[in-house]
Amino acid sequence: MKPFEYVRATDVASGAAAVATVSQAKFLAGGTNLVDLMKEEIERPVRVVDITQLPLRQIQRTRSGLSVGALATNTETANHPLIRENYPLLTQAIVAGASGQLRNMATNGGNLMQRTRCNYFYDLATPCNKREAGSGCGAREGLNRIHAIMGWSESCVATYPGDMANALVALDANVRVRTTDGRERLIPAAEFHRLPGDAPQRDNTLDHGELILAIELPVGASEFARNSHYLKVRDRASYAFAMVSVAAALQLDGDTIKQARIVLGSVAHKPWRSTEAEAALVGKRISDDTFRQAAQAALKDARPLAHNTYKVELGQRSIVRALQRAARLA
Ligand SMILES: Cc1cc2nc3c(=O)[nH]c(=O)nc-3n(C[C@H](O)[C@H](O)[C@H](O)COP(=O)(O)OP(=O)(O)OC[C@H]3O[C@@H](n4cnc5c(N)ncnc54)[C@H](O)[C@@H]3O)c2cc1C
Ligand code: SF4
Repeated sequence: MKPFEYVRATDVASGAAAVATVSQAKFLAGGTNLVDLMKEEIERPVRVVDITQLPLRQIQRTRSGLSVGALATNTETANHPLIRENYPLLTQAIVAGASGQLRNMATNGGNLMQRTRCNYFYDLATPCNKREAGSGCGAREGLNRIHAIMGWSESCVATYPGDMANALVALDANVRVRTTDGRERLIPAAEFHRLPGDAPQRDNTLDHGELILAIELPVGASEFARNSHYLKVRDRASYAFAMVSVAAALQLDGDTIKQARIVLGSVAHKPWRSTEAEAALVGKRISDDTFRQAAQAALKDARPLAHNTYKVELGQRSIVRALQRAARLA
């Protein structure tokens, strides 16, 4: 690990400024991703600003829904009674991730900011445009079983590996951010992560020094509480990242689908919301046929790589199963 300056933030303004004013500074929350990356020298910050003492841990009702602090841990968030009752999809997505010990340390802000699990990103001996812009992409012609099938570019075929963000997109959440000039802005969860294009070194739409303050869950998304399901398919039953995951949420009027959300995880550089699948569901009665049509619509533009064609059928089957469970048919 490279030597670095350690700063403990005591208030939001000075903590944010301590990162914003130094181009190679980083916020430190639970440390479960950043410290690993620093040990491998993939991240080499010259200054690390510990934000764990900042008052960003509350989970509270607001006029528009529920505000979930950036520093609330994944465990606190998943177990909170208001989240379990109104946004069970979020609880399911969080507990599908990592392990109990990791979720006790991991924070919501850090979870959104976690980096890809592309093996070449972690291997300093191979080229990687995300790690070092312009060096090439080891995965494009390499072993790409875990990589993207949607939205990738020649520069990068990595996926965003997290679980929580997929549920946040399905629930129309916003990410509340403090800008570097001290204002606040709301980023829709669907626009927080980005596709790689020709700048894969940028995982998301945050500018350097912007601090995530909270995640805002709209009151309307609690309409999905009765009929939602998070399905994660992985190589091992626990402690593994998804090969494919699905956040499925329905609003039903009897057997008729009034509203639908389908978000796929681990298939693209960002949570992949399929408006095509949603359109194939709205107005229809719940049935396996309807679910299969939605699943086909979701994957019709998939562009698998040499080793991940399996993700297309797996994605379709996972959508059908997640919808069956959301609709309580299975
Ligand atoms: C073995 C293992 C298995 C895992 N499995 C899964 C899994 O299955 N599913 C899943 O979703 N995740 C998984 N994870 C990832 C884990 O969820 C993340 O490491 C964790 O959520 C990161 O949170 P943290 O608070 O520890 O972040 P840190 O490591 O402290 O920070 C991560 C990044 O976020 C930035 N950051 C942190 N807080 C803020 C903020 N408020 N504003 C702006 N930037 C911020 C930091 O600067 C850093 O760049 C796994 C991790 C490990 C080690
Ligand atoms: S897929 Fe992206 S992260 Fe992986 S080697 Fe290529 S550029 Fe790097």
